[in-house]
Amino acid sequence: MLEAVTTVPRERFTPPNLRERAYENVALPIGCGQTISQPVVVARMLELLELTGSERVLDIGTGSGYHAALLATLAARVLTIERHAALTEAAGLALCELGLTNVELFIGDGSRGIPSRAPFDAINVAAAIGGPVPTALIDQLAPGGRLVAPVCEDPEQPDKQRLTVIRRSERGVSQALLDPVRFVPLVVGRQRAARA
Ligand code: SAH
Repeated sequence: MLEAVTTVPRERFTPPNLRERAYENVALPIGCGQTISQPVVVARMLELLELTGSERVLDIGTGSGYHAALLATLAARVLTIERHAALTEAAGLALCELGLTNVELFIGDGSRGIPSRAPFDAINVAAAIGGPVPTALIDQLAPGGRLVAPVCEDPEQPDKQRLTVIRRSERGVSQALLDPVRFVPLVVGRQRAARA
């Protein structure tokens, strides 16, 4: 996992004017009011997904495409979905330039997953879920599958979230609440995406 983090150039996923800050351990603006996540949090989420190389992964909230690039390095196939077309376009270009051909990009609302392409061995949610993880997403996990998402526990404090891991096994679904984190919200439903 650390090898993937060292081989994927984060500066390729930050806007040109912020490239010299690409290796700071901070989230950075990428346009459309969104951010590329903090590297240490991305690494932690990758660790929690326990990828071995054979997985089909769903990545919700493509943003810059950096997280998707790391997932593509660690798994067999990645489907990534983003509601801002301008971000998808830039992410697609960066992924293509890095030769990561095992990523499919989708534009749209990923809050309900991509049921027509389920099941997934791993689901990575890169935006904060404002309540319980939707069953529609859990239903798209293959047996043995893992989902990692920042989940807000208190609607009064939307900026405070905990990384949550959901596992689906033969015996049912288990959930663990872990590290405190801070992500932009997962926008649910038909709200129009703002322009860059
Ligand atoms: N993974 C990204 C960081 C994502 S920030 C990276 O590596 O750069 C979260 C992203 O989720 C934002 O780009 C935001 O537009 C997107 N997002 C929010 N709600 C969404 C939804 N319902 N469907 C798809 N994308 C969504």
